Amino acid sequence: MKCYICDQEGKSTEALAICIVCGIAVCKKHQIREQIPVTETYKWGLGEEKVTLPIPLPQVLCTWCHQALVVQKTK
Ligand SMILES: [Zn+2]
Ligand SMILES: [Zn+2]
Repeated sequence: MKCYICDQEGKSTEALAICIVCGIAVCKKHQIREQIPVTETYKWGLGEEKVTLPIPLPQVLCTWCHQALVVQKTK
C-alpha cells in the first residue's frame, strides 16, 4: 500500500502504518505515534459511567489527524 499523503503530493512512498482515526495508510514521515487518553463508557443497569483509562494508548495518527486532534487541543 502507498502513503496517501505522499500520493497527494505527487510522490509514491510505501506505507507502514494506518491512521486509527481516518484509516488512511501513511509512511514513516507522515505517521505520528500519539498517546491519547481513552475514555470508555460503561453501561450499567440503570445508567452509564464515563471512565478514563489510567494508561493512554499509543496510537498511530496521520499528520492530518494529528493536527486536527492534538494541535487544536493544546491551543
Ligand atoms: Zn508519506
Ligand atoms: Zn488520519
